[in-house]
Amino acid sequence: MTSSQNKPDIAPPPLQNDCFALPAGVNWTPVDDALALLRDRLRPVTGVETLPLMQASGRILAEDMIAQRSNPPQRNTAVDGYGFAVEITDGTYVLPLIEGRAAAGIPFDGQVTEGSALRVLTGAALPDGVDTVILEEDVTVQDGHIAFRGPLKRGANTRRAGEDVAAGELALSAGRSLNPADLALLSAVGVSEVPVRQQLRVAVLSTGDELVEPGAAAGPGQIYDANRPMLLSLIERMGFVPVDLGRVSDSREALRTCLDEAAQNVDVILSSGGASAGDEDHVSALLRDAGAMQEWRIALKPGRPLALGMWNETPVFGLPGNPVAAMVCSLIFARPALCLMAGAGWSEPQGFELPAGFEKRKKPGRREYQRARVRDGHVEVFHSEGSGRISGLSWAEGLVEIEDGERHIKPGDPVRFIPYGSFGL
Ligand code: AMP
Ligand code: MG
Repeated sequence: MTSSQNKPDIAPPPLQNDCFALPAGVNWTPVDDALALLRDRLRPVTGVETLPLMQASGRILAEDMIAQRSNPPQRNTAVDGYGFAVEITDGTYVLPLIEGRAAAGIPFDGQVTEGSALRVLTGAALPDGVDTVILEEDVTVQDGHIAFRGPLKRGANTRRAGEDVAAGELALSAGRSLNPADLALLSAVGVSEVPVRQQLRVAVLSTGDELVEPGAAAGPGQIYDANRPMLLSLIERMGFVPVDLGRVSDSREALRTCLDEAAQNVDVILSSGGASAGDEDHVSALLRDAGAMQEWRIALKPGRPLALGMWNETPVFGLPGNPVAAMVCSLIFARPALCLMAGAGWSEPQGFELPAGFEKRKKPGRREYQRARVRDGHVEVFHSEGSGRISGLSWAEGLVEIEDGERHIKPGDPVRFIPYGSFGL
């Protein structure tokens, strides 16, 4: 095409020097290196408070917890039955029953004489003279006696004191995020108050002139803010305190004001959008001006450069604007970083090797995360890899992680599926 008279005489950009360079991504920072850097450079930033056990669900232990008491605290019976201390080999046994019984919380305060038996109920402390219990279903009771058949191992149907946890043993380690089972354990070993980390406060803001608040009227060219509800919910589910900073227009001044205020009140800031190197990418521009910006070109799909910066000593994660990339970057990079800052240590999401239910050829050079779910034992991936396809995030129940190198995945080949639950969602 020739240029007409009234058009300016501009030429298209020349071929770049690196037009023969490896495909995009190859020289970028591998995901694992980026993770290692975060792990190396961040540390816990939260203080410690003491809470009643009942209020400590989901909180992070600040100290190792030592069992104050053994579980079980004393020998007891695991079943309803009859207790005695008699060597039982093959053959038939008839033992006289002693008057009384032992029940959970109501011990028998006598001695079970040698050769006789006592009625015992599940959880009852074993009285003196009892080391073995026979199930009530296995005996006939008649005329003040029980009759049963051997053999029966010494100690059968009983629990030893401290067989689960002994007093003085480590029950849980510092950094543990307390789940319901942990609360049961701590209570059982006599812990009623726990030193926990104060909760990490994580601010979330969206940038973009095109964004409108859910519920508001959206004009032409405008879209609803999808990232903020997603990121705030993610923060909450991970056990942190979400702080909503709202939407900020693509104005450097507005963003500066927002960051100034947030940095005084929170431990870390997550922004989405405006994190690349374009005209409207004010997050990266501001952080760069502040002299505390690192643009990590991470070999990751989906993902744009991750802008990492410090704003008045508060770390800022500049996430990509595309909701799919924003979510993947949050799960892969922000989550372990936040856990570390919160005092929970570094955590890797647990993945599972499962057969693929799809075919895919992948070039070497970058790691890929695809929206995925498991059906009939096979990993399915969302039909589109488009990073604006929010419906795929919701369709999915996790991510499939495809390693950095080249791969040709055929149906049935093992792939690594990481359920959303492994990210704490
Ligand atoms: P950006 O990183 O700001 O260039 O944004 C990349 C793409 O993501 C653009 O299409 C934006 O409109 C879109 N985007 C940015 N922020 C959001 C948001 N909070 N919710 C939905 N889409 C967004
Ligand atoms: Mg934008």
